[in-house]
Amino acid sequence: MAEESISQSEEIPEACPHCGNKLSPWQQVLLATDRALVCKKCWYRIILDVIPTAKKTDSDKSKNEGPK
Ligand SMILES: [Zn+2]
Repeated sequence: MAEESISQSEEIPEACPHCGNKLSPWQQVLLATDRALVCKKCWYRIILDVIPTAKKTDSDKSKNEGPK
């Protein structure tokens, strides 16, 4: 039925949205992994705005629990 079985719904850009520089497959892998990639042509930081449901509350550590 469905020929295109796209398991990954992530949208990895094939090119830099800023300067249009085509990303190499390896760069796309890095982008998919790190969710961020700096274009080597224009130094534009490509960031996947797909934020996973990982709401890290690192700043929550500021709770004042003084060590005894
Ligand atoms: Zn670029």
